[in-house]
Amino acid sequence: MKRNLVTIQQWLQAEGQHIANQQVTGVCIDSRSVQAGDLFIPFRGEQVNGHQYVKGAIEQGAIAALWLKDEPNPPADIPLLFVEDSELALQQMARSYRSELTCTVIGVTGSNGKTSTKDLIAGVLSPYRKVKKTEGNFNNELGLPLTLLSVEDDTEVAILEMGMSGFGEISFLSTLAKPQFAVITNIGEAHMQDLGSREGIAKAKFEIIDGLVNEGMLLYDGDEPLLQGLVNRQSDLRSMSFGYDQADLTAQQITSTDKGSSFTVVGKLEAHFTIPVYGSHQVKNALAAIAIATELGLTEQQIEESLSETTLTNMRMQPVAGKKGSLIINDAYNAAPTSMRAAFRFIEGTSVKENKWLVLGDMLELGTNEQRYHEELADELKKMDLKGIALFGPRMKWLSDQLKNHPIDIMWTANDAELLADALRPKLTDQTVVLFKGSRGMKLERIVELLAEEE
Ligand code: ATP
Ligand code: MG
Repeated sequence: MKRNLVTIQQWLQAEGQHIANQQVTGVCIDSRSVQAGDLFIPFRGEQVNGHQYVKGAIEQGAIAALWLKDEPNPPADIPLLFVEDSELALQQMARSYRSELTCTVIGVTGSNGKTSTKDLIAGVLSPYRKVKKTEGNFNNELGLPLTLLSVEDDTEVAILEMGMSGFGEISFLSTLAKPQFAVITNIGEAHMQDLGSREGIAKAKFEIIDGLVNEGMLLYDGDEPLLQGLVNRQSDLRSMSFGYDQADLTAQQITSTDKGSSFTVVGKLEAHFTIPVYGSHQVKNALAAIAIATELGLTEQQIEESLSETTLTNMRMQPVAGKKGSLIINDAYNAAPTSMRAAFRFIEGTSVKENKWLVLGDMLELGTNEQRYHEELADELKKMDLKGIALFGPRMKWLSDQLKNHPIDIMWTANDAELLADALRPKLTDQTVVLFKGSRGMKLERIVELLAEEE
């Protein structure tokens, strides 16, 4: 953002002091990351009162700050804008700024796959358009306005992740962002408690159409009857569904190669694509990206080229070239019992390489039943056709004990990454695939690095 402080004052219709014609080049709510040219917004929380950092922010180069009207002792010598509520002011700024922007705005919501889909859309478009996307998971009532305010005048496409935990939130974010394209990746079970049922969850996500501009388009998971039902009730909504069958855009013949997933798109577009990540749900996320790229005028060949080079937020079912021609699948991003089992099923089902190995790290934050959760994985593992299992972390000792008499290679170490890598290295051949999965805190990527082919 580059806007005059006086313009921002008009947006906020706020009283000010020392407000001059100065260029503001960013907005910041965390005093530790203030940059020169920023407008600093203090928040008053239960633990910390951000007003105490206002002076410091100015010293670090902030041009001005907001100040809550009922906060005593505003420093007299600093440019300030006086507002009723920090969050509302941030949102108002984003709303006003949005109305001046000419870029294409894309909103992405859904129970799972928001970040992946956002990254895939950005990956496809980036070589051809100037793209701004939500950083990490900045997808709520603060993150979304901050992302909007980080859009630049020459940005061509802004991709915004929209998260929620209750009714009304997506409607609010969408109305603020006014997207040309709205994506609903899927409907899951998260937030069931707040929303009552899967129907409730679908309705809450569907609120994303509330902010769609005229001529805007909804892209949605066509395999979800609840969404299809909601779409059918909207007579004048432009929409396109994506899914495994019966959608406007379907992905067929999904196969895993050592470069990732390859698939054929059938429907409004017919072509073959590859994405550098495994998992058929990621193929589905890619359909949303392909649909939007097509709508924005990219050719099939352009889409194919950029999609195959896209980097997702790292460490999610990512193919990595391993030593001696082996294939590493890096899923070291995180792990819990359900996602562990999903990874097992993937490795079991794939024929990308013959000799299958698993490297499993501790699953953290499982509470009082953590031992049982680790032990229970043994039943499933014993049924699988694996060459070996390498276990890493103190909690994996429990699983190691359960696998004591299982007649395949089993290794365990509490924390020696080098030792584990040294033990695994001789096992690698051009017929070996090794899947890494563990909780974030286990940092399994250290072992991945030791076994990956140097670039
Ligand atoms: P969060 O709510 O944490 O922001 P998110 O919606 O951004 O999550 P991602 O971070 O993209 O989702 O993916 C989280 C996990 O969800 C992935 O590791 C994958 O296992 C699963 N996932 C991704 N896409 C889909 C999908 N379309 N359907 C079902 N599961 C998915
Ligand atoms: Mg996310």
